[in-house]
Amino acid sequence: VGRTGPQRGYLLLYQPPGVRAEATGQIGDWVRLALAPGVEAWAHRDSIEFLPEGTPIPESRITYIRTRKNERGVQVRVPLRQRLPYNVEQSVNPQMLTLNIFGGVSDTDWIRYDSDDNIIDQIRWRQPQKRVYQIKVNLRQKQQWGYDIFYEENTLVLEIKKEPTFRGTLKSSVSGLTFMIDPGHSHDSGAIGPTGLKEKDVNLWIAHKLRKILEEHGATAYMTRYGHEDVALYDRPRKAREHNADILISIHNNALPDGVNPFVNNGTSSYYYHPQSYPLAHAIHKRMVKNLGLPDHGLYYGNLVLTRPTQMLAVLVECAFMMIPEQEAMLRTRGFQKRCAESIYQGICDFLKNESDH
Ligand SMILES: [Zn+2]
Repeated sequence: VGRTGPQRGYLLLYQPPGVRAEATGQIGDWVRLALAPGVEAWAHRDSIEFLPEGTPIPESRITYIRTRKNERGVQVRVPLRQRLPYNVEQSVNPQMLTLNIFGGVSDTDWIRYDSDDNIIDQIRWRQPQKRVYQIKVNLRQKQQWGYDIFYEENTLVLEIKKEPTFRGTLKSSVSGLTFMIDPGHSHDSGAIGPTGLKEKDVNLWIAHKLRKILEEHGATAYMTRYGHEDVALYDRPRKAREHNADILISIHNNALPDGVNPFVNNGTSSYYYHPQSYPLAHAIHKRMVKNLGLPDHGLYYGNLVLTRPTQMLAVLVECAFMMIPEQEAMLRTRGFQKRCAESIYQGICDFLKNESDH
C-alpha cells in the first residue's frame, strides 16, 4: 500500500505483488517511492522487497490498449513490460474512470474496442507529465457498480462491473441482487451503553433483520458473521468480494471519542468513500433520519475499511448512539431494531428506483 506520507492518507490503494517503483528515501519504517517527478508515495518497509542497486528505474512503453467483454462486465487491458504502480480515480459526472500508470511512456498507436461491449463509451490516453501515462475511460453507465484492478502477468487489467441483473419486474426491487451485510465488531465489543448493552450484539440483531427482509424480497444476502464468531476487520470486505456482492452494508452504532460531548453531537449518520456509493448512502441516510426520528448526525465521506472496497457499492451506517441512555434503551427493543433494518431496506429501494427513473 503506497500512502501520501508516513501513516497518512492513501495516494494509491493496495498494489499487487511484483509492482516496481524507485525508492528514494526512508524515514523510520517508511520508504519514499518516486513515482514521477513531483509524485511520491510512502510504503511500509515490510511490504517492500529491495532490488539490487543499479536496477534501472522501472518504466514501460505502452503501445496498445484493448477492451474485452466478459461475464462480469468489461476489461480494459494494458500490456506493460513490467508491473508498474498505478492509481484509479473515479468520477460520476460524467461517469468516468481515470487510470494513472507511473513509469508509463506513451507510444500508443492502437486502442481496440470489443464491439460486443456496451459499458465503455470511449477511451482516451495522454501523457500529462513525464512518467505519468493516463487513460480516461468514459462510461455509458448512469450508475457505476464497481471496478477491480489487477495484473495478469504484466498486463494491467481494469475490470468494470456491469449493472447487476434485476430479476424482478420492477427495477426498484432488490430481487436478483447480492448483498453482504456486515454486523460491526465481534471480538471487540464496539461501543458499550450506560447499562452495558454491547454494540456488537445490537449490530448483529439489526443485520439479521435486514438479511431476512432482503431475502423475503428475492435478494441473496450473506453476512460477514452470523453469530459471535470473530472476524478480522480486513476479512470483512474480502468476504464481500468473494461472494461477488453488489452492495455491502456495514451496520454500527455510535460512540464518540473522548472529549466530544455526545449529548450535543448524536443521532444517525452514514458513510461512503467512493463516488459510486454516494447516491446509495444518501438514499439510506435520508430514510433512516426520517424513520428513526433521531437527530441527523450527518452523511459523511469517510475513509474506512468497510467503505473502501471498489468492487461494489459500500455504505456504513451508525443507526443510533449507544452512549445516550434513551437511544440505548431504544436499541434494546425489537421494534426499533426492525425499524433500523426497514429504513436501510427502504433506502436501498429508493436508490434503485432513482436509478431506473433516469
Ligand atoms: Zn462500531
